[in-house]
Amino acid sequence: MFDFLVVGAGFAGSVIAERLASQAGKKVLLIDKRNHIGGNAYDHYDEAGILVHKYGPHIFHTNSADVFSYLSQFTDWRNYQHRVLASVDGQYFQLPVNLNTVNKMYGLNLNSSALDDFFASKAEPVKEIRTSEDVVVNKIGRELYEKFFKGYTIKQWGMDPSALNASVAARVPTRTNKDDRYFTDTYQAMPLHGYTKMFERMLNNPNIKIMLNTDYKEIMNEISYKKLVFTGPIDEYFDYRYGKLPYRSLEFKFETHDKEVFQQTGTINYPNDYAFTRITEFKYVTGQQHSKTSLVYEFPKAEGDPYYPIPKPSNTELYEKYSALASGIKNTYFVGRLASYKYYNMDQVVAQALTTAKKIALEDQLSHSNGHQGIALKRLN
Ligand code: FAD
Ligand code: UDP
Repeated sequence: MFDFLVVGAGFAGSVIAERLASQAGKKVLLIDKRNHIGGNAYDHYDEAGILVHKYGPHIFHTNSADVFSYLSQFTDWRNYQHRVLASVDGQYFQLPVNLNTVNKMYGLNLNSSALDDFFASKAEPVKEIRTSEDVVVNKIGRELYEKFFKGYTIKQWGMDPSALNASVAARVPTRTNKDDRYFTDTYQAMPLHGYTKMFERMLNNPNIKIMLNTDYKEIMNEISYKKLVFTGPIDEYFDYRYGKLPYRSLEFKFETHDKEVFQQTGTINYPNDYAFTRITEFKYVTGQQHSKTSLVYEFPKAEGDPYYPIPKPSNTELYEKYSALASGIKNTYFVGRLASYKYYNMDQVVAQALTTAKKIALEDQLSHSNGHQGIALKRLN
């Protein structure tokens, strides 16, 4: 009998399994339907011997000292600050839109305060900012919105930015200085030997047994366990009782080129041309030295593995129905990007998993101090 069955060996499942096993001494069975650990952060060496991310580029960044120090138990780091260019009108521009972007696009020589005035003169003020279109046009106006955001968003999500929550485009800020880093978080670094190695160290614990190529639905009645942590899609867990939650998928096309460098920065976005959204060259991200170079192109699509929850009001409403079902089940915890139906970055998932592991430990203590194991516990929220 296992104390815990943890479904999904991505960040959510692996962090919880590690905490339960090493801190609380629990016996954990961790399963994943894929043939590897790491979830969407999984990386591996391709045929040329170049470290690539199987499910698209994963750049680690966080403002949380707790998350960074927790993960630092399992990996050393290589400092890395991601820089992105956008290919617009046949030229490359820095993204997020900043002082250099505007000066280059319009042949100007503005300073920061003049750029403030420039944006103010272009902005279309929106009273209540609700959508991804609102958030951009309200700040920088329609012309820059159409060059950098509209086409990319339609390609990425299969819908107009006016149909998506503001939080989606708000991930990419606008700056009036010349800071051209994609992220400004306090901690920006890549696991020195890759994500998969970090996961291997996290899960190397005699209390954790791992079963790959194992779908929860196929084994749920064959394995005995006391509590469940589920990190797959929440609608799938409930057999789509209220209908399917929409997720956006991607197809990844990998290429290796027989030259050292392919493009001038880690990622180049193509908002208005081609069917792919961006090209990422892995060696920038990982720091690997190699005479060849490998890239990934991302082609958005509707069907396929669920990669992105789609943040829009009707989907949140549907998710809330599943969430209400979930909170009515005892001894079962829903954690991670798919089970929470939230557009979480890796660090947010780690933070959520650490919080859930603490909550589980507390409930466990309470149930023991009550003297009745398995007593029905009021949920601690
Ligand atoms: P996942 O990694 O999806 O893990 C869930 C696991 O559950 C999967 O391995 C799946 O196989 C398994 N599973 C599902 N259902 C079942 C079942 N029924 N039975 C058994 N197993 C099951 N975040 C960043 O911070 N920085 C980035 O640069 C970044 N880039 C990204 C790029 C792309 C293209 C994508 C898609 C995501 C990116 N993310 C990035 C987000 C990041 O991938 C997630 O935040 C994180 O990996 C989520 O971890 P998770 O454990 O919640 O989910
Ligand atoms: N976005 C855009 N143009 C870009 C980059 C991003 O319009 O060149 C919008 C788009 O809607 C995208 C969102 O901002 O989905 C978030 O971008 P991010 O780079 O954070 O996406 P992720 O890395 O999560 O795919």
